[in-house]
Amino acid sequence: MAEPLQAVKGMNDILPPESARWEWLEDTVRALMRRYGYRNIRTPIVEPTPLFVRGLGEVTDIVEKEMYSFIDSMNGDPLTLRPENTAGVVRAAIEHSMLYDGGKRLFYIGPMFRHEKPQRGRYRQFHQVGVEALGFGGPETDAEVILMARALWRDLGLAEVRLEINSLGLLDERKAHRAALIAHFEANAELLDAEAKRRLHRNPLRILDTKNPAMQDLVDAAPQLIGFLGEASLKHFDAVRSALAAVGQPFTVNPRLVRGMDYYTHTVFEWITPRLGAQGTICGGGRYDGLVEMIGGRPAPGVGWGMGLERVLDLLQQSGIDGPASAPDAYAVLPDAAALGPAIAAVEALRAVGLSVVMHAGGAAGLGSMKSQFKKADASGARHALVFGGNELAQGMVAVKPLRDAAAPQVLRPLATLADWAQELRTA
Ligand code: ATP
Ligand code: MG
Repeated sequence: MAEPLQAVKGMNDILPPESARWEWLEDTVRALMRRYGYRNIRTPIVEPTPLFVRGLGEVTDIVEKEMYSFIDSMNGDPLTLRPENTAGVVRAAIEHSMLYDGGKRLFYIGPMFRHEKPQRGRYRQFHQVGVEALGFGGPETDAEVILMARALWRDLGLAEVRLEINSLGLLDERKAHRAALIAHFEANAELLDAEAKRRLHRNPLRILDTKNPAMQDLVDAAPQLIGFLGEASLKHFDAVRSALAAVGQPFTVNPRLVRGMDYYTHTVFEWITPRLGAQGTICGGGRYDGLVEMIGGRPAPGVGWGMGLERVLDLLQQSGIDGPASAPDAYAVLPDAAALGPAIAAVEALRAVGLSVVMHAGGAAGLGSMKSQFKKADASGARHALVFGGNELAQGMVAVKPLRDAAAPQVLRPLATLADWAQELRTA
């Protein structure tokens, strides 16, 4: 036998029954998007590398060390597996002039790729749902997208997710803050670690994001961006906070919240759960009013978030939330090959009215004994077995045998009036 091959490290197969939980989550997300007027966008998984270098910023974790970048061997083009999808959505919006007649509310679901150290909640292929509200500059849209995430927690039955927000202001305000930050860190240069030294003049804001405990005091004493915000930025931030207060959504303002990408302006936020340890951020986002221009479009504002599905699913599991059962309603048992014709007709008719029915499948040697068929019916999780026995079929009947309730009796049902009794098979 040939050597078995394995999936790429940090990239997971999602198998049944686990995949049913994914489908439930995705269905819940799609229903939510409809309620808020967000429409689906599907962009390619591979994009030109410069899109991310330009869009995310050269001195970001993602661009510096997490991208799956390669050269297309056919034509030499630099390409990258998307590490996130805001840049791709904005590229598509520009390329197709989507904003010519006003703003667009968009969402996506799909795989993202980052070369990180695989661990719980951190994979090399992972999946995000994201929303992007493009062309809307007002604080009401910041509040809208933040509250969409809250609505999803509610739809899923998740508690224990808290909201942190901050404002990064405008570019000029960030520049003034940046100069003050550099001065602060330069005055304490002996306390900086190697990574911080490297970032000092390239991206000092990222030093605030350090995970090095030895630098915590220095970071805590650093000048805060909020002190550099002008009137308009403060007004925007106030309006977002008022909107959240108006719907009773608690939040903490975390002045250290800076987020990974360069493109953010004004509001940034994270939804965090204490239940997943260091990978507790299940959703993060913010406003990015400069990004469309950075990617080559006419200036237009935007705000959105990305949510890690693996982390949300982990939290659902931690919280004991399973989603609806995905077992079939019925399993068709065939005592004899002669039953195949009427059985298949009945099973197709049941499926046509929306029931989930699994048809027994035998091996090359035949259908197998009744005992082995019932074993398979049981293992399928089906609520009922439909037994297409010769005697019953001769009377135009099928036997319906409950599999999950030992006390419930087997009953005979007429095939001719199948539509009348089909609904009683439906798994509650
Ligand atoms: P972190 O600080 O955990 O690295 P991030 O700031 O890099 O997160 P974003 O780029 O904002 O994350 O992506 C949005 C969401 O996608 C995160 O909040 C998280 O839920 C999820 N996510 C990010 N990277 C991964 C990964 N490697 N594996 C699984 N989920 C991820
Ligand atoms: Mg990261």
